[in-house]
Amino acid sequence: MNIKKWFNSQTAIIIGGILLTAYLFLILTVTNIGQSRLQESQNHALDLKVSNYSDNLSFFFDVSQENITHLATNRAFNTYFANLAAGMSLQYGLSSSLFSLRQTINQFSQKNMIDNVNIYRRLMVIGVGGTVIADTHPDRGFDMSQVPFEFMDAAQEKILMFEGLHGPSITLLRTVYHQNKPAAILIAEINQDVVINRLSTQEHESSGSWLKLVTPLGEIQVWDSLKPLAPLKLKPDWGNDVEEARGQFHTGHLVDDHSHSGKNIYLESAIAGTPFKLVSWFEPVNEDNVFTSTWFVVAISLLALPVLFGLWYLMRVNNTNLILQTQIEVSSDQQLKLTHKNSLLHKEIHRRKASENKLAYRAMHDELTGLSNRTHGMVRLEDAIGAAKDSRTQVLVMFLDLDNFKQINDTVGHHAGDNLLQQVSERLLTLTGTQDTVARFGGDEFLIIIPDVSHQDRAKALGSAILKLFEQPFNIDGQEFFESTSIGMSVYPKDGDNAAALLKKADSALYRVKDAGRNGFSFYDASMNRVVKREQALNGRLHQAVNLDEIEVYYQVILDLESREIIGAEALLRWTDSELGVVSPIEFIPLAEKNGLIHRLGDMVLFKACKQAATWQSISPIKIAINFSSVQFRYCEQLESRIVEVLAQTGLPASKLEMEVTESLLIEQGDSLMNMLSNLNRLGIELSIDDFGTGYSALSYLQKYPFSKLKIDRAFISKMATSKADKSLVKAILAMAKSLELKVVAEGIEYECQAQFLQDYGCEFGQGYLFGRPVSAEALTQMLMAQHKKTVTG
Ligand code: C2E
Ligand code: MG
Ligand code: MG
Repeated sequence: MNIKKWFNSQTAIIIGGILLTAYLFLILTVTNIGQSRLQESQNHALDLKVSNYSDNLSFFFDVSQENITHLATNRAFNTYFANLAAGMSLQYGLSSSLFSLRQTINQFSQKNMIDNVNIYRRLMVIGVGGTVIADTHPDRGFDMSQVPFEFMDAAQEKILMFEGLHGPSITLLRTVYHQNKPAAILIAEINQDVVINRLSTQEHESSGSWLKLVTPLGEIQVWDSLKPLAPLKLKPDWGNDVEEARGQFHTGHLVDDHSHSGKNIYLESAIAGTPFKLVSWFEPVNEDNVFTSTWFVVAISLLALPVLFGLWYLMRVNNTNLILQTQIEVSSDQQLKLTHKNSLLHKEIHRRKASENKLAYRAMHDELTGLSNRTHGMVRLEDAIGAAKDSRTQVLVMFLDLDNFKQINDTVGHHAGDNLLQQVSERLLTLTGTQDTVARFGGDEFLIIIPDVSHQDRAKALGSAILKLFEQPFNIDGQEFFESTSIGMSVYPKDGDNAAALLKKADSALYRVKDAGRNGFSFYDASMNRVVKREQALNGRLHQAVNLDEIEVYYQVILDLESREIIGAEALLRWTDSELGVVSPIEFIPLAEKNGLIHRLGDMVLFKACKQAATWQSISPIKIAINFSSVQFRYCEQLESRIVEVLAQTGLPASKLEMEVTESLLIEQGDSLMNMLSNLNRLGIELSIDDFGTGYSALSYLQKYPFSKLKIDRAFISKMATSKADKSLVKAILAMAKSLELKVVAEGIEYECQAQFLQDYGCEFGQGYLFGRPVSAEALTQMLMAQHKKTVTG
């Protein structure tokens, strides 16, 4: 057995309790046995004492009797009674014998002592007739009637109680014989003190006893040291008590008031040869001593009670502890089980969630490509429509269908077809962002959802980009395949306000593309298609126009606002197509930037304008301002060397060339642009910022780059009259330009008031229909000549 487990606090308390109880029980038993033994031995000792007293007293009376008998047979008695019998008178011999008799008893009385106390208090000789023959104390009076004369014949000696003057007294009687006939009675009254001394030899102050001699006439109190009514005295005042205790004689019945509580030991002993008996009470020894008293035992027993109570309480506390401990063990056990169950549950939940997720993923995704499936695609579309409804934005829906998929599938096999679909989906994903959705609708159909399409240009750009994705061949098992796609597009909210409607419209747009020969995109909205168509047409026509040099350069004068003299001209492209009519540079320049024709167009303007400006120098030393697209700066070094080359070829001084660039060019540009602009500026070419205020207008680049002029966009000038804000803005631009030491050209001045206002606020130069529309080189030559003439004549 495991001792540690067996010996716990509970067992310890139980063992402790048992040992303590046993110990207390042992103490009680030993104390009880000890007390009863003590009592027994005390009883025995008291018994012995009492019988010793009675024997002693009996012996005393025996001896006294003997002494009296001996006295009664004394010669003095014989002589006296012989003389009496002889009839001798008192005057003769009788008186002397009487004297002798009287002397004898007197001497006897005085001689017989114990411990210097006379044994006899009185001796008397009384004649048969009742005459007192001799008396040791004749003065004490005597009741003769008490003398039992009748006894003289029956017995020789007797002990009697005589009622004396001072109360009853123990008296010895002896018949005095003369010539064998009773002649007188010898009466000896015993000194009571002697008797009392005999019976109290073993008593002392602390003995706690009460002794009485009971006689036929009453009782004589011998000793009383019991203190029944007073509490136990350790040092009793015995001085008076002892005297009080001794020798009192009580007549009447025996009053047992000293038996007290009944605990005292009562003993009685007859005194042999006498009519007396000794009655005594003794205090039990156990009550005498605090350690042997019953109270002590009771106190010890009571002492056990709190100890036992304490043990019981400890047991209870321990039991409660054990219960608590058990509960804690049980609960921690349950907790462990629960934790285990919990982790199992967690695992199960995790497993189920994973499988649910898997199922949900499968339910929402196409297994082959990993794209959203049709169902999920529709959900995403609905979501995008919902979000667009809230944010009032547009959603672009692109419906794709591969052009030759069936052919590849049929000829090369399904495996190749699957592979192609995977590659297509990968390429489509490269174009789309996280907000966009690419879904496989089934077969070779794909759906692309682009939320928040703000402009149709973005839609067109995306369409073109998707078509471009297909320009590269697809590699399937080492073989190259060309594939193209047709795209139908619809836009929320213009073409429909729900997924089904938008999909239907995109689908019909897709069929238009298919009908038109595939590999293209189409909007459901006819007008949008027109834009696309025009763009496509422009694209083609622009190529042709550039090739055929059909694009002309027009010039718009720039004046000094103060002198109103032409100080320069801006070269602006003009194109009138035989099919499309007049096409604004606002429309074809962005197109040329996209298809790369801008480089050829830019070069053409640069050369023609510089050549033209060089010829004008002879009429007027005007500056020629040429617009440069930021696309042209992609190849800075070539452009720079080309400008230098053109200036050299045309003979135009660099100081007469002004380059107009837009703010967008300058954003996040590297060192090469900076170097180039610095180089050109060093040559003398002036740099100006075109359309100032419409772009980012970050002031930092005004200082960073070597600009000396800025052109306020005509939008501000035209709105100046109606908008206070624009007016303030123009004033602010002018103030700022002044502090940066930049010259300002105001574009689009159509009214004199505008010119006046600008002039008032320190604007140096002006350009606009007020001074002249863009015109051909010839027309401007005329204008310059006219001005020249004016100055010459003026
Ligand atoms: P831009 O450089 O700001 O040219 C000024 C435009 O404002 C010109 O339009 C001009 O005809 C117009 N304009 C001038 N004064 C007035 C006026 O008082 N009222 C109105 N309503 N318009 C005025 P344009 O010729 O149609 O050119 C448009 C933009 O095309 C030019 O803006 C420029 O950014 C671009 N562009 C034109 N030619 C070229 C070129 O050779 N190269 C490059 N890169 N861009 C060019
Ligand atoms: Mg310009
Ligand atoms: Mg401008």
